[in-house]
Amino acid sequence: MRANLIEIFKSIQGEGYYIGVKQLFIRFSGCNLNCYYCDTPKSSEICLDYVGNKKILNPVSTSYVQELIDESKVHSICFTGGEPLLQADFITSLKKTRPFYLESNMTLPEKAKKLRFVDYVAGDLKVKESGISDYQTVLENTVKCFRILKNTRKRKTFCKIVLPEKFDEEEILNSAEQIRKYVFGFVLQPVFGSRLEKILKLQDKMIELADTRVIPQVHKYLGVR
Ligand code: SF4
Repeated sequence: MRANLIEIFKSIQGEGYYIGVKQLFIRFSGCNLNCYYCDTPKSSEICLDYVGNKKILNPVSTSYVQELIDESKVHSICFTGGEPLLQADFITSLKKTRPFYLESNMTLPEKAKKLRFVDYVAGDLKVKESGISDYQTVLENTVKCFRILKNTRKRKTFCKIVLPEKFDEEEILNSAEQIRKYVFGFVLQPVFGSRLEKILKLQDKMIELADTRVIPQVHKYLGVR
């Protein structure tokens, strides 16, 4: 099996509850959404392998990725994107010789069903102001995805909410209410330039639903990938 990748690299996790753990990142290209703050290229003919220091032509084979996974002494393998759920079959075809960590926009429930075996889920709750279309359907699918990949004794699932400068507090609280029983906590992640005061006010209310932390993207401050 093969998949289109943007890059493969080792670094620390820079977002959410697992900030600082060492991971091997497998970044897929392609996404079903179109958030205005997205910084991931849509596609690339070449995959940059920073571990092997090589440029490889897309699509990349399962065996190539498996070898890197097997050789990596890391906390976990982070599947990110783009949207990794679009590549659920590719991920399923890999052997889990290290824990698997899924970073997803949580909008593709049928694909999510295939990845119940992952060990960590960092799932997004998108806000309307992200600029995505058909928001109601996106939200319904998000709740379904969290139900499918919910936090269990074997799988650690949390929800990340990227907060643009403007957001509707009531709407976020209503959506979080639908998700809270499937996660061990929420992370409020400000987009650069967002007003912290408003975010701290939202945190005060969300704490009543579940553990809620305000955590920016740390890898950008550290200047690492
Ligand atoms: S879900 Fe992620 S990868 Fe997809 S458009 Fe939004 S920010 Fe980009």
